[in-house]
Amino acid sequence: MKKRILVTGGGGFLGSHLCETLLEQGHEVLCVDNFYTGCKKNISHLLCNNEFEFMRHDVTFPLYVEVDEIYNLACPASPIHYQTDPVQTTKTSVHGAINMLGLAKRVKARILQASTSEVYGSPTEHPQTEAYWGNVNPIGPRACYDEGKRCAETLFFDYHRQHRLRIKVARIFNTYGPRMALNDGRVVSNFIIQALKNEPITVYGNGKQTRSFCFVDDLVRGLIRLMDTKDDFTGPVNLGNPGEFTVLELAERIIALTGSSSRIEHLPLPENDPTQRKPDIRLAREVMGWEPTVNLEQGLAVTIEYFRRMLGAM
Ligand code: NAD
Ligand code: UDP
Ligand code: UDP
Repeated sequence: MKKRILVTGGGGFLGSHLCETLLEQGHEVLCVDNFYTGCKKNISHLLCNNEFEFMRHDVTFPLYVEVDEIYNLACPASPIHYQTDPVQTTKTSVHGAINMLGLAKRVKARILQASTSEVYGSPTEHPQTEAYWGNVNPIGPRACYDEGKRCAETLFFDYHRQHRLRIKVARIFNTYGPRMALNDGRVVSNFIIQALKNEPITVYGNGKQTRSFCFVDDLVRGLIRLMDTKDDFTGPVNLGNPGEFTVLELAERIIALTGSSSRIEHLPLPENDPTQRKPDIRLAREVMGWEPTVNLEQGLAVTIEYFRRMLGAM
């Protein structure tokens, strides 16, 4: 059935892929973004589609539209961007969630929150299951994002319990792919750009910290699958690729795949940088029949080609 779907943060990396897939599935998409970290280029190819509408709007302000479903993705996601204006980051997570939940309540829409593995902080349990409550420094430099997202989860569950809203909470683990901004600052895009330019690969700390990297197509499929689960399934549910790699391993793979002459340069480890992270995705497998299908090598190859084109066009 054709639905009218709101995607906040639709001009960003994940949001633009999500808008594209929802349009391909025959839905009408309303994309809302203030272009804080996203850009027009991510969605310019969608503007000629009659089923696509773009609205420049900041989700910290109320939004009155009529929709059947809401994917709430608006929020800067890269540490360098979310730490530039930390107060705005918390406002976006918290006021943004309140406004989108208020909207969902009024129009009786299903609403999905793009939460994050950051709610687990620097985890003392490994791999992380949804039952783990996390280990977050509430006053550190990452807190504006981590605690903002944790408070948004709180709001989602309170609107669910208090107002019977149909909510879905996805805890997204590190995701990468085409359309990450050149200045995004996250590890995959940084390393690929540095490798393609034969510049030093900036490994923070000793590079032994681990992350799990999910390719964007798998993630978007997971978000839509989650939205389509039965009303009684709220999550939170982990969405990510359980393959676990050290940052140093990632650097070495990218150097090999690009044939780069880059060397590795160690820079100081940012404060509160989580030492390990790997999703337990049994819940997503059981309830949604979802698991990633693109391995790191395949996903990196596609992403490297994307950045090669982008750098070539500059
Ligand atoms: P992104 O920075 O590319 O996209 C975020 C989008 O939100 C941007 O287009 C930005 O302009 C927009 N935005 C920010 N503040 C806004 C506001 N106040 N009002 C309206 N729009 C606003 O990042 P992304 O990787 O696409 O992340 C999308 C969502 O997924 C975020 O909520 C992020 O926290 C979550 N997430 C992403 C990852 C990942 O690895 N990519 C992991 C966990 C969670
Ligand atoms: N809101 C919105 N769009 C709507 C309905 C509500 O942006 O269609 C905002 C509204 O500004 C309010 C917030 O969502 O601040 C929470 O709404 P709710 O109805 O839950 O609370 P209340 O209005 O009673 O504070
Ligand atoms: N990182 C790095 N070099 C970079 C960017 C990031 O070594 O140029 C490390 C960072 O310290 C962290 C991991 O890579 O341990 C993932 O960082 P990212 O900013 O992509 O996401 P995070 O999971 O920290 O939010």
